[in-house]
Amino acid sequence: MRRPILFGNWKLNHRHKDLTAFTAEFKSLMSSREPECDFGFAPVATLLSEATRSFKGSGASIAAQDIHSFASGAFTGTISAEHAVDAGAQFVIIGHSERRAYFAEDDTSVNAKVRRALSVGLTPIVCVGEPLSIRDAGGHEKFVKSQVTSALQDLSSDEASTIVIAYEPVWAIGTGKSATPEMAQEMHAAIRETLSSLFGRSAAEKVRIQYGGSVKASNAAELMAMPDIDGALVGGASLRADSFVAILDALN
Ligand code: PEP
Repeated sequence: MRRPILFGNWKLNHRHKDLTAFTAEFKSLMSSREPECDFGFAPVATLLSEATRSFKGSGASIAAQDIHSFASGAFTGTISAEHAVDAGAQFVIIGHSERRAYFAEDDTSVNAKVRRALSVGLTPIVCVGEPLSIRDAGGHEKFVKSQVTSALQDLSSDEASTIVIAYEPVWAIGTGKSATPEMAQEMHAAIRETLSSLFGRSAAEKVRIQYGGSVKASNAAELMAMPDIDGALVGGASLRADSFVAILDALN
């Protein structure tokens, strides 16, 4: 039985004052709840340490939105896996489609970052997903299987079993247009099959596969009811404590 996992990706949103207000409301909403799942937030890098302090006691984990594939060196403007750990992060989002589209992230760098994250004990949330043109042409399954295979190259079965994958069709991110539960389930099952062929059935059954793309309280429960959907990565609806908690409620 896989424990569901819900993460909010705050992207380039929320400043220090917003974090303070968010955590106060979040803690108050959570005081009457005991969700049977893992959950957390990915704030901007400058807020990682403060978020770690501020969410303490709420049950939330903290994720970095990205890391560099090197531990240190002349790489202006980024953070390493070690910096993320120092700031209290336990997870890191890797290969988000916005990183791939705007920051030249490719399958090779995604794989290097996944391996770096694992080497310092960070759990990678590896994002994959097809653009609309690929889906319209019927190549979505092949495209996503290839992203998964590249991202996880050279991992052992034990390592692979600990990661989280987020299937996020690019056309569903921030558009209000979610994949149907059936469409998402079909892809999640294909991803699990790919994991099984790469790492064996037992490892594949342990990997948690989140769906991401316009998830909100009104569609979360039907998505989560699918057998291979183990949680969600949420952008817009994670920016308010009440809408994130409403999704948490729908997961349970
Ligand atoms: C995301 O950015 O990972 C995402 C899923 O965004 P949204 O929920 O806003 O579609």
